Amino acid sequence: MESFKSESIVDFFNVYTTDLDCLKYLSRIKWHGGYSCVKCSHKKFIVRKANFARDCNRCHHIESPTANTLFHRVRFGLRKAFIIVFEMSVATKSVSSSQMARRISISRQTAWLFMHKVRIAMKSSESQPMMGQVFVDEFVYGGKEDLKQGRSNDSKKKKIVVAVEVDKKRGVKRAYFKRIENYSSKELNKIFI
Ligand SMILES: [Zn+2]
Repeated sequence: MESFKSESIVDFFNVYTTDLDCLKYLSRIKWHGGYSCVKCSHKKFIVRKANFARDCNRCHHIESPTANTLFHRVRFGLRKAFIIVFEMSVATKSVSSSQMARRISISRQTAWLFMHKVRIAMKSSESQPMMGQVFVDEFVYGGKEDLKQGRSNDSKKKKIVVAVEVDKKRGVKRAYFKRIENYSSKELNKIFI
């Protein structure tokens, strides 16, 4: 397990203001442990500036940052998809798809379908522990005052862990978001056992 960043969710959406920013973020966490072509295992690549996809130098297979993740082929924009996943991770009660649809201006059907996908991914992460190389990103969900304090165990704040399971050959296997009570190793371990 490796933790490589810590930031507030409010801060996150202030920095990642476009779908392209979110793609860049996804590419960063996806290949944080190194790149290996899914087709031929070659390690050298060219980054496509338009979408941060990686183009293998040997076989020219192009892999998008969203491939093999929840976010693949999301038509309503990556940033909105991120918002849904974060909201669902921190919600104490289940969030309705019509509520979500209104909030981020997408159709109820689209919201329902994506939220269903997120729930399945969350369930699979509960029943199948993450193995191998796992990267973790931590977020604090709350007001502006959180930004100054950064990482803290203040009980009023909601904390989310984003875990990405990486398969050396195939890239990201699962991306997983979970709300935790605090940053103790006991809490963090919950997502891996
Ligand atoms: Zn290749």
